[in-house]
Amino acid sequence: ISFGVPYEWVFVDGEFVPSEEARLSVLANVVSYGTGTFEGIRATWNEEHRQLYLLEAEAHYERMGRSARILGLELLFSPADLVALTRELLRRNQVRASAYIRPLLLLAGEQLAVRMHDSGSRLCIPATPMPGDYINPDGVRCMVSTWRRSRDTAVPNRAKVIGSYVGPALAKTEAIRNGFDEALLLTADGHVAEATTSNVLIRVGDEWATPPVTEDILEGITRRQIMDLLREDFGITVTQRRIHRSELYACDEALLCGTAAIAAPVTEVDGRRVGDGRPGATTLAVQRTLRAIARRDERRHHDWTTPVYDEGEAL
Ligand code: PMP
Repeated sequence: ISFGVPYEWVFVDGEFVPSEEARLSVLANVVSYGTGTFEGIRATWNEEHRQLYLLEAEAHYERMGRSARILGLELLFSPADLVALTRELLRRNQVRASAYIRPLLLLAGEQLAVRMHDSGSRLCIPATPMPGDYINPDGVRCMVSTWRRSRDTAVPNRAKVIGSYVGPALAKTEAIRNGFDEALLLTADGHVAEATTSNVLIRVGDEWATPPVTEDILEGITRRQIMDLLREDFGITVTQRRIHRSELYACDEALLCGTAAIAAPVTEVDGRRVGDGRPGATTLAVQRTLRAIARRDERRHHDWTTPVYDEGEAL
């Protein structure tokens, strides 16, 4: 996948600057230590509506606010202000295609000291064209990684910490090198946590389950959407409970979900077929619904999307 050339204007600390001015020093604290937090937000272009829709932008900025609090950093804008700024960013860039927004709150100062304080935090919001499918929406073959999630006592995964993606990156490369598409990571205790950048849900018989937020996962916004849709469309209440590795091997359906992945069926784990090895019917239904909601082609959940352009403006 390729994210394409970033859009020209970038929001940096209260103003919109050309992308060549949105630069960090190689001595920026975050470059050495990963000190900061980030988000990833999807915007979906609807050609029929001539409109661009942000998906759950406010929820992403609320999570960024919580991440900032955990790290002891200050996010100077409210979630509502950040949504407004993001709309403005996309309008300035005249984005009329699906896009990916990458808000970053990072320590940009050149102090090479390992600490969170007094290193000059900076808020940057660049946007890029949305790449194609991040993982195969028709079926993902997973391996359980030899790498595990860090514990909340070491690095708080609840905060989307920039430096905490080294483990998932190692896991992803390990999975690809071993001929799989994606890695599933266990907690330090050996319970199922999540994939590299998506949450996992499984079905065993009639029960859908997903690890609780205390299992060192990132509490995904898509995970929450899927739990809502399973309840509304299928009357299913997802159980949040510990999941054993061996349950992955014997489950009837499994899916990965995230802003990039949307909802992708897992068809294989460590060489064992999930169910009959074909994408789960419920997973595919939820994937279709989520895609329709993202471009507002669905009656429900208009509250999950925000139009970027004012009425008539994008025409
Ligand atoms: N887990 C991790 C580690 C992630 O990076 C992501 C992507 N943000 C997710 C789960 C899914 O979260 P969301 O649905 O909010 O994108």
